[in-house]
Amino acid sequence: MPETEPKPHPDDGPLAWQQEGLLINAFGRHLRRKFGGRIQRVSVDAGFTCPNVDGAVTTGGCNFCDNRSFSPSRRVRLQRVSEQLRAGIERVTRRYDQVDGFIAYFQPATNTYAPVGQLAEVYDLALAADPRIVGIAIGTRPDCAPDSVLDLLERLAQRSMVSLEFGMQSVHDESLRWMNRAHTHADMINAIDRARGRGFECCAHVILGVPGEDHAMMMQTADEVGVLGFDAIKLHNLYSVHGTPLGGEVLAGKVQMMGREEYVNTVVDFLERIPPTTIVERVSGDAPPKFLIEPKWCLEKSAIRNEIDAEFARRGTRQGARFVTPALAPSARPRPQDTTPASIAAQIDMRGRLPVLKMQGN
Ligand code: SF4
Repeated sequence: MPETEPKPHPDDGPLAWQQEGLLINAFGRHLRRKFGGRIQRVSVDAGFTCPNVDGAVTTGGCNFCDNRSFSPSRRVRLQRVSEQLRAGIERVTRRYDQVDGFIAYFQPATNTYAPVGQLAEVYDLALAADPRIVGIAIGTRPDCAPDSVLDLLERLAQRSMVSLEFGMQSVHDESLRWMNRAHTHADMINAIDRARGRGFECCAHVILGVPGEDHAMMMQTADEVGVLGFDAIKLHNLYSVHGTPLGGEVLAGKVQMMGREEYVNTVVDFLERIPPTTIVERVSGDAPPKFLIEPKWCLEKSAIRNEIDAEFARRGTRQGARFVTPALAPSARPRPQDTTPASIAAQIDMRGRLPVLKMQGN
């Protein structure tokens, strides 16, 4: 289903979610307005790896990421994309009374990191897997979105909903270094300035509670959401899982995760500063209990969501209450030259298949 509505401007008067009396521009409600029913995401693993794991930019991956499952030495044969989606749809349909459509969510690893012809093939497979699939969401890194990939997504967005989710995480390079992200915030700016306005949704994934970041630093990341004009945002608390460098440090007592109350207050502060037009796709993150080390409170997702709403109600504010319109509108920002690292561009521009994707089959 193509994107037809023009993007609302914060000065256009009350937005739909505000008229509905909501406190944030919540994703579920946004999808309901857009597609006329309940839309659920279904995760799919197409066998991608990551340039932060296979050595294209570095090895080892981010300190919080359990990337053993998509290391180049992976030998597990994945189910085909279409089979995974059909199984996922069946699971979701069993869980909820009424679901009207699905978004195929390319979630693990870096889902734009393959030859562009093969990306087209994999995204098409997902869109064709079931007539109820209304779109695709693609998780990636800021340094892995060359113009060739953005051109492909622009074409796809003419016939379907497409969301490109960038792991921005923070605007602070020292935090990105601490996470071993192996990209800078300049990479994020370059990517979003080339991706914006092409008809697909650009979403920023942000992590709150990075050790060394104080409240003011997290608010600088919040302000950047409006400056760069992201369409959507996903907020995550930093959490640690077994088998990761961060997990080891947490178990050794060297690093502490943010507390629940501080997190709730920080999320509300954050959401007050972003534009009211930004869609809020997520306000916390968690991992399966058997992998999660800390914080355990993040498993109580609905309670956290209620506490965020309660804090907004207590303050008498809502999303965007403290948003300051940037001096330069995001749409007026010039489109820069593509600065995708040569080592990544070489993989995406090549004609063959990356080793892991080769196992995917069609
Ligand atoms: S960039 Fe993403 S997929 Fe790659 S190691 Fe980091 S979190 Fe994991």
